Amino acid sequence: MPFSKLGLSEPILNAVTELGYTAPTPIQAEAIPLALKGKNLIAAAQTGSGKTATFVLPILEMLSKGETQKKKRARALILTPTRELALQVCKSIEAYGKHLALKSIAIYGGVDYEPQKQALIDGVDIVVATPGRLRDLYTQRAIHFDEIEILVLDEADRMLDMGFIEDITKIIDTLPEQRQNLLFSATLSRQVRELAKDTVANAIQLSFNKEGEGKPNIDQWLITVDKDKKSALLSHLINENNWQQALIFIETKHGAGKLVSQLEKRGIESECIHSGRTQAIREKILADFKAGNIKYLISTGVSARGIDIDVLPLVINYDLPFPADEYVHRIGRTGRAGASGEAISLVSRDDFKNLCMIERRLGHLITRKAIEGFEPSKEVPISVLNFEPKNKPVRGSNDEKSSAPSGKSKRESSSSRTKPNFESRSKKSDTSSNRSSKSSDSKKLPPNPWNV
Ligand code: AMP
Repeated sequence: MPFSKLGLSEPILNAVTELGYTAPTPIQAEAIPLALKGKNLIAAAQTGSGKTATFVLPILEMLSKGETQKKKRARALILTPTRELALQVCKSIEAYGKHLALKSIAIYGGVDYEPQKQALIDGVDIVVATPGRLRDLYTQRAIHFDEIEILVLDEADRMLDMGFIEDITKIIDTLPEQRQNLLFSATLSRQVRELAKDTVANAIQLSFNKEGEGKPNIDQWLITVDKDKKSALLSHLINENNWQQALIFIETKHGAGKLVSQLEKRGIESECIHSGRTQAIREKILADFKAGNIKYLISTGVSARGIDIDVLPLVINYDLPFPADEYVHRIGRTGRAGASGEAISLVSRDDFKNLCMIERRLGHLITRKAIEGFEPSKEVPISVLNFEPKNKPVRGSNDEKSSAPSGKSKRESSSSRTKPNFESRSKKSDTSSNRSSKSSDSKKLPPNPWNV
């Protein structure tokens, strides 16, 4: 189906054509006509599926048709988990709305309140915001929600993971009851469904996380290695492979800084972003990475949320994240827009419990490759795919929590910190037919991870 059949008007169609989009992605083809009819939607869709345009295009279409009663007040509100994503969504609004006179603003924490307040006084049509700062501004009466017609919850699962549930529900309580609601989430977990039940009544549910259509094609593999050999292994891989660009995920901000110096000692230039760096520096580094001026970017999970590069060829997990969905999010940074991508994880014995959860989530083992000279002394067992943990694994880092806007750390720190209780196959089973550690043939496994 061409864009022209979706019900969008000329200025929007022209903007989309100028961006080089030839046809809507599957989620756009299905959801945009429904959104234009005013339906409430709950969509399971990954980053990279074209979900941003799925909600931005109908918002632009609908807002370009009317005018607020009390001019200058926002008519659409988009909640996002991080400031990087808020800025990214705002950029998309500018691009798709370049032939329209609608104004948008990104509102997020960690920066001065005044410019945001002034922009709200000057008047905006679309507010894209992280929940904490938005709630602060509402409490200060700097923003009014009485003209909001459309609410979007973008990456709802991430917002819940980051502990924003209270801010979200408080904000929603203050919105006009008569409004359209669009919820997007990589996964429709129980918590997301509960949020949806309370906020998105009579919604049409759409899922785009099936095998095949429009999903990224990512070649995933892992290398088992001792924890203290990871930086040497990474340097070795970088030197051997001469990678054009890689995004390297790490759990802690301290670890990110340390890795930059370790790579530097081996003659490899890299940069890092994490919650300890100022917003201005993070934005500059991201822009340099996108422009290709930085080859290796080390990032904690949340700091990388706004990274949106169509041709990013490689993602490296220096540590394995928890929860498992975070792994899926991370590797979803590559293999976008039809391109193929590669995701490599460096897995030490400490990562084993997270590996179990990830492989269980994927429904298959990740291909293992051995790198000569880096064989681990502490072997990483093969995980059990139908394994049920008695307790949740411990999340590796506080960095994601501290990087949430507006001091959310107290609320977020209530997550489970009980000791993990994992089972594994016996070491003997490492030589079983299930084991793929000596194999370099990743084609034996499904081509992408969205087959759960
Ligand atoms: P998203 O899932 O919204 O993060 O979008 C992922 C990437 O796909 C972004 O870089 C968009 O610019 C791009 N994109 C979105 N829709 C289309 C489309 N219909 N055709 C080509 N690229 C698209």
